[in-house]
Amino acid sequence: KLAKRTRRVECYRPAALQDAHRRFLVETELRHDLGSGALHLALQPLIDLGSNRICGFEALARWQHWRLGAVSPVEFIAVAEDSGLIAALDSQMMDCALATLAAWDERAGRTLDVGVAINLSAVELTNEDVSERVADALRRHGIQGQRLTVELTESAILADPAKAAEVLDRIKATGARIAMDDFGTGYSNLALLRRLPIDILKIDRSLIGDMPTDPDKAAIVRAILSLAQALGLRVTAEGVETAETARLLAILGCNVGQGYHFARPLEGDAAYEFALARGA
Ligand code: C2E
Ligand code: CA
Ligand code: CA
Ligand code: CA
Repeated sequence: KLAKRTRRVECYRPAALQDAHRRFLVETELRHDLGSGALHLALQPLIDLGSNRICGFEALARWQHWRLGAVSPVEFIAVAEDSGLIAALDSQMMDCALATLAAWDERAGRTLDVGVAINLSAVELTNEDVSERVADALRRHGIQGQRLTVELTESAILADPAKAAEVLDRIKATGARIAMDDFGTGYSNLALLRRLPIDILKIDRSLIGDMPTDPDKAAIVRAILSLAQALGLRVTAEGVETAETARLLAILGCNVGQGYHFARPLEGDAAYEFALARGA
C-alpha cells in the first residue's frame, strides 16, 4: 500500500512542482516587465460585414520576454488575475490603445473613423475605481468615449449582477460601449442581457469556426442573432477564418466580423496602414 502511494506521489510531484515553478517565474517576470515595452499591444481589425470597411480594432496584450520568449496571453493573463497584477496590466493596455488612436489621428491630420476595444478582466468588475480609470485615460488622450468599447466576459457579470450593473453604468457614462465577450460559451443568463447596459454580443470563436459545416452551431448562431435583434444589440463574430463564414454571417445579419480571414492581430505601422486601406 505504501509503495503504491509513494509511486503515485512520485509521479505527481515533479509535474506539480514544475507548474508551480513556471507560475512563480511568470509572475516574477511579469511584475518586472509591467510598465515596460516588453508588454505591448497587437491590434486586430474589426470589419463591418455590411460595408466591408473597418470599424475598429481589438487590443490584445503581447509579452515578449528577453529569455522566456513570447509568452501566450492565455498563460500570463491567468497569472496576472491570480496575483493582483491584472488591474495594472489592463490599465497599461487601455492607455496604450488610446495613445495609439491619438497618435494615428495626429498622423492622419484628422479624426480617424475607427475605435478600439479593450479587454477588462472579470476580477475588475469588483473594482470600484475601474470606471474612473477609463474616464481618466480617455481624458488624458483626448479620445471620445464613443470610440472605446470595453469587452467583459460573462462570468464576471454573473458573479454579482447587481454590482456589475452599477460598475457598467458608470463605465457607460463615459460614452464607452460594453461588449459581452465569448458569448455562447457559458451558461448564458438571457434575462441579464435585458437588465444590464450591454451594447454588443461577441460570439465566441468556438461557435463560429465550425458554423458552415456544423448545423447545430449554425442554429445557435442564428438564435443568438435573432435574440440580439429582439433586444436591440449589435453582434460581433470572432474567429472568422474563411470567406464562406464571412459571407454566411453577413447574410444572417451579423454586424461585425473579426478573424484571420480579415487580418491577424497587427503590430505597429501595419495596423495604421490597414485602417487607412480599409476606409478608416
Ligand atoms: P479574446 O478576448 O477572446 O481574444 C480573441 C483571441 O482570438 C485572441 O487570442 C486572438 O488572437 C484570437 N483570434 C482572433 N482571430 C482568430 C481566428 O480567426 N482564429 C483563431 N483560432 N483565433 C483567433 P489571444 O491574443 O491569444 O488572446 C487570448 C485571450 O487573452 C483573449 O481572448 C483575452 O481573453 C485575453 N487577453 C488578451 N489581451 C488581454 C488584455 O489586455 N487584458 C485582459 N484582461 N485579457 C486579455
Ligand atoms: Ca476580447
Ligand atoms: Ca472573445
Ligand atoms: Ca474567445
